[in-house]
Amino acid sequence: MVFYNFNRGNLIELIMKKIGVMTSGGDSPGMNAAIRSVVRTCLYNNINVYGIKRGYQGMIEGDIYKMQTTDVSNIIQRGGTILKTARSKAFMTEEGRQEAYRQLMKHDIEGLVLIGGDGTFRGAVKFFEQFTIPAVGLPGTIDKDLSGTDFTIGFDTAVNTAVEAIDKIRDTAEAHDRLFIVEVMGRDAGYIALNSGIACGAEDILIPEQITNIDEVLSRIDRDERRKKNVHIIVVAEGDDFGGSKEVSSAITSRFPELDVRVCILGHIQRGGAPSFSDRVLASRLGHAAVNALLSGNTQVMAGVVNGKICFTPFANVIKQNSTIDADMLEMIRVLSE
Ligand code: ATP
Repeated sequence: MVFYNFNRGNLIELIMKKIGVMTSGGDSPGMNAAIRSVVRTCLYNNINVYGIKRGYQGMIEGDIYKMQTTDVSNIIQRGGTILKTARSKAFMTEEGRQEAYRQLMKHDIEGLVLIGGDGTFRGAVKFFEQFTIPAVGLPGTIDKDLSGTDFTIGFDTAVNTAVEAIDKIRDTAEAHDRLFIVEVMGRDAGYIALNSGIACGAEDILIPEQITNIDEVLSRIDRDERRKKNVHIIVVAEGDDFGGSKEVSSAITSRFPELDVRVCILGHIQRGGAPSFSDRVLASRLGHAAVNALLSGNTQVMAGVVNGKICFTPFANVIKQNSTIDADMLEMIRVLSE
């Protein structure tokens, strides 16, 4: 496969023969489907594809191996990532990034596909300030905290997992007349809380994007108690400004000591499990698009889907801007939980 680049005014023909692929940061369901798509698209184009294990950490350590089509057989339906993932402190340093580049050169890697979240693209921006290697990113994170895409690989599955769990909690909450506070993942972004809360008919949803007014939360509980509503479910994102489920629970029990209040932290079950069909399709589309983008010279961009169409956004523009939640959505939640 051939792509063109300008160098000192001359049109240079470059032939890319080796592409590296890695997964980085928190794992998300659908990463395997993305790896499969990248590997198979490379092999279809007669390009050697190398798996970089454990994200940037494996890049630094040269944990890189040649992949064959059979390496990605029977993985489209599996959660986690066959390439493993890691958070790398060493990559945050100049020396670490220097070593990562040295290892890529040692393995003759000419292009990269990076699958990860906000941190992965922050790392990419730093890396490509210093070194030149064509790269395309895929949004692989349950958090959906990236610009340039309507969905991230893993988000749909994580929300469905949370919904299934909250539905079960509602059954037991109703049987015992209990108030439940369910904490879901989302250090900086409340999308999992918001969407699972709406889908489960939560009485309150507390997210980092909106300042939590605990007095309003308490008065809604008070109102529901007087109306003898027997289930009250509050979905809290782990990064909510009030401090998470335990702090919300303390505030409720100190105001209403007679209430049977329980906390359930869903934790890592949200990351695991078979990816939903949407995450598998998204991962397959984006992996294929990423390799084609690399080969056509459209690089240092993340592939995403906006309004159903594949689009590409420079790395620097996908990393977290202060995300805001649609005000209409917040108003709707108020109305539906009345
Ligand atoms: P998730 O959103 O699912 O947690 P993520 O990609 O945001 O995924 P992080 O752990 O935040 O996960 O980032 C992945 C890795 O990217 C970090 O471990 C680190 O090696 C690298 N990284 C993050 N920020 C920077 C930065 N500012 N400079 C250099 N490297 C960075």
